[in-house]
Amino acid sequence: MPKAVIVGGGIGGLATAIAFTLRGWEIEVLERSTRIEEVGAGISLWPNALRALAALGLDETVRGRAREEDSAGIRDRKGRWLSRTDTEAIRVHYGSPVMMHRADLLDILRRAVPEGAVRTGISVTAVQPDGTVVHSAGTSAGDVVVGADGIHSVVRRAVCGAIEPRYSGYTAWRTVITPTEPVGEMGESWGSGQRFGYSTLPDGRVYCFATADMAAGTPGGGLDELRARFGSWHDPIPALLAAVGETAILKHDLYDLPPLKTFVAGRIALLGDAAHAMTPNLGQGACQALEDAVVLAHVATRGGDLTDYDSQRRPRTQMIVKRSRLIGAVGQLSSPMAVLARNALLRLTPSSTQFKSLAPVLDWESPRGGDQRSSSTSPMRTPSGPRT
Ligand SMILES: Cc1cc2nc3c(=O)[nH]c(=O)nc-3n(C[C@H](O)[C@H](O)[C@H](O)COP(=O)(O)OP(=O)(O)OC[C@H]3O[C@@H](n4cnc5c(N)ncnc54)[C@H](O)[C@@H]3O)c2cc1C
Repeated sequence: MPKAVIVGGGIGGLATAIAFTLRGWEIEVLERSTRIEEVGAGISLWPNALRALAALGLDETVRGRAREEDSAGIRDRKGRWLSRTDTEAIRVHYGSPVMMHRADLLDILRRAVPEGAVRTGISVTAVQPDGTVVHSAGTSAGDVVVGADGIHSVVRRAVCGAIEPRYSGYTAWRTVITPTEPVGEMGESWGSGQRFGYSTLPDGRVYCFATADMAAGTPGGGLDELRARFGSWHDPIPALLAAVGETAILKHDLYDLPPLKTFVAGRIALLGDAAHAMTPNLGQGACQALEDAVVLAHVATRGGDLTDYDSQRRPRTQMIVKRSRLIGAVGQLSSPMAVLARNALLRLTPSSTQFKSLAPVLDWESPRGGDQRSSSTSPMRTPSGPRT
């Protein structure tokens, strides 16, 4: 039976494991952490991601543990609307985006991976184009090796050498709180060099996120700083901040990757943040990892050349990285004149224009044909032939 060795047991790695399993391949997931777990935060999944999850047979399960996002938009720090997202048009054309807790998504993916296929506490140190994977417990070998090992990917080195992630110029906080009263319409509020957003989770808790311009690695930035920065913003932000516990706050500097020349080398393919880490301004990082997983399994298990995966995924994901970076730059504008001009422009932009601009991101369809293939599926063609 052909085999895929998957480095990394995050959203991208687990989704890939499921996609290859559905097509009859053996899989081995190597995860550095001793447990498969996600950070305590929410995650939005757009309709394109739900279509990828449908290809994995998991869209209904995910919807069952998620909440449909029924409103969205951007306000200023006083709560005046700058733009409204036409969520109804999105729902009609593409399906509803959903919000859920990351731990729930990871739990669903983990349960769909065959028992025993995930090896935790194993750190990969090197990968060779012939499919050999060197790790802390010895070596493994696959017909395909998938680098799903995140933004600081070790596997990426074997595909395109040393690539340094780019700092966005701003840091992000995330937390999940239990509100004292319902928060009303979700959305994001943009100030000067900082933003605050919130969205309700299915269990009534609220996922809050914030950003601020800051040098990379700036220490501190705890609850006091969050309250100082956002405590005077519009309701319900002060009440949300009053409900935050110090230990529940996550703070991460935000990085993305410059465009890679290729996602593949020999038997190796990169996906998710290892291939195209992006700033979270479009909420598409994990969505793209899910798409990658479906396309990679489709191409590889049909005996296709991995360069087909590269040509299907690289232009699309790099377009989204670029857009996310641009939206972040606009959202983080800080000079008073630039903020005034930005806000005026946002007010003047019809929601139909915004809707149209989302189309190239949301209109992705999963590849057709060959889904749920049997174990007789032939392995991919490689320059040196299959390993089986
Ligand atoms: C603030 C913020 C908000 C976000 N919001 C959203 C959102 O709303 N919607 C969305 O779609 N995306 C969002 N994203 C992006 C999303 O979180 C990522 O794109 C996604 O989690 C990437 O998944 P991945 O599996 O590619 O990588 P990761 O989640 O980084 O997983 C990589 C895995 O590989 C393991 N690993 C690393 N190195 C090794 C090694 N050498 N050997 C073995 N294992 C290794 C790690 O331990 C880890 O488990 C957000 C990101 C941030 C920072």
